[in-house]
Amino acid sequence: MEEKFDLIVIGGGPGGYVCAIRAAQLGLKTACIESRGTLGGTCLNVGCIPSKSLLNSSEFYHKAKNNFNNLGIETSNIKLNLKKMMINKMKSVQILTKGVEFLFKKNKVSYIKGKGVLFSKNDVVVYQDDKKTSYKSKNIVIATGSSSVSLAGINIDEKNIVSSTGALSLEEVPKNLVVIGGGYIGLEMGSVWARLGSKVTVIEYLDHITPGMDREISKEFQKILTKQGIKFKLNNKVTAVKNLKDKLIVEFTDNKTKRKESIDCDKVLVSVGRKPYTEGLNLLKIGVKKDEKGRIETNKKFQTSISNIFAIGDVIKGPMLAHKAGEEGIAVAEILAGQSGHVNYDVIPGVIYTSPEVATVGKTEEQLKDSNINYKIGKFPFLANSRAKVNNESEGFVKILADSKTDKVLGVHIIGPHCGDMIAEMVLAMEFGASSEDIARTCHAHPTHTEAIKEAALAVDKRPIHF
Ligand SMILES: Cc1cc2nc3c(=O)[nH]c(=O)nc-3n(C[C@H](O)[C@H](O)[C@H](O)COP(=O)(O)OP(=O)(O)OC[C@H]3O[C@@H](n4cnc5c(N)ncnc54)[C@H](O)[C@@H]3O)c2cc1C
Repeated sequence: MEEKFDLIVIGGGPGGYVCAIRAAQLGLKTACIESRGTLGGTCLNVGCIPSKSLLNSSEFYHKAKNNFNNLGIETSNIKLNLKKMMINKMKSVQILTKGVEFLFKKNKVSYIKGKGVLFSKNDVVVYQDDKKTSYKSKNIVIATGSSSVSLAGINIDEKNIVSSTGALSLEEVPKNLVVIGGGYIGLEMGSVWARLGSKVTVIEYLDHITPGMDREISKEFQKILTKQGIKFKLNNKVTAVKNLKDKLIVEFTDNKTKRKESIDCDKVLVSVGRKPYTEGLNLLKIGVKKDEKGRIETNKKFQTSISNIFAIGDVIKGPMLAHKAGEEGIAVAEILAGQSGHVNYDVIPGVIYTSPEVATVGKTEEQLKDSNINYKIGKFPFLANSRAKVNNESEGFVKILADSKTDKVLGVHIIGPHCGDMIAEMVLAMEFGASSEDIARTCHAHPTHTEAIKEAALAVDKRPIHF
């Protein structure tokens, strides 16, 4: 007899595993199917976590080499042990993926290893090695995530021409690394290898990096990264990557002048985006509809075209971010348990973990202009923030956009030290519908970077104290 569940989740990433845990907490008999062999999905295995481990280690290395002396810390003979750095990364990944397994046991979620395939709207078949097992479920959540894409004619071999996955595990520091695509993954991985000694060139098709980001922040970000030694070729289309015996040649053409150029390098990172992953799920046969971009179509309750099959995370529309997937996972579990699960897409933060970090939430200036919304701006530079100043981290600024009439905060964009953590204050404020005056009248501890937020809020009303 096949085992029966209230809920089967296909995919054990931050969307799927969070959904499974919350559903089990709410009393649903829940299983989660994962084909990778470890839980945690892209995020824990080959995404957020390993990239942040390398960003952290490479920043320490870079600071020890270049900044410690200025602080009166004399060091000599600082050497990179890349193998050890990679082992440290691997250990972090192992601890966290095992941690999810522990959480499954604690919450009584059945962890089924193998590839899940939909057989009917209530039947899932799981293939592992030569074994095939069938399960029944009242409801099914598809949380199968995304995979990286390449450009036509460019073959990712994960050795010389790599995706983010390969870039997280290079065995040597490339002398010259070309990054195709100036989005957050390319810039994070480019920063890692630049700090470890690579000459990094980013080639971007658009005339600016980090598409979709507030343009003022994006410009400042590029300026800072350029100072750090990263070169940018904007408005250029990569036409080919030639893989010769001893080198790679990246060919590209300027979109405006049509001038052709090429760069010799030893590694190429292709980071031009990710696409929803639904391979082998049997969606067509079951009748689960996808949109023109290959994303599973869902309504506001995350229901697909088949009412008892739901979808969340990277496989549906919206920003491809782990915390967005997790929020959707919780919402679906609560909806299935008869509660009113909900995700507020207006306040999903986005963070780039470079140095300095970049953090944003809500509307950009460009979006407000496009929607004809009148707004006020308050800005405050970290140069005038005492904590940033004493830490020698005074690049960047906080920018708050508030509605001209109501003063409600509509967007916050920060480039500066630790802003990936600082943005949480503004996410919470926006979730509660705060005005910039509310932020300005909130006491912030001194000396902290967060005082820059208070000052930017004061600046919305043209009354900053320290600038
Ligand atoms: C290099 C990199 C860095 C990133 N950094 C960040 C970051 O700092 N912050 C952030 O928020 N986001 C980050 N992301 C994005 C983040 O990883 C994704 O948004 C997130 O993992 C999506 O979660 P998910 O649960 O939808 O899918 P995934 O995490 O992709 O998980 C889906 C899982 O489903 C499994 N699966 C697929 N098909 C089947 C099947 N048929 N049967 C069984 N299992 C199946 C897959 O093996 C996978 O483990 C990063 C991504 C990359 C690549």
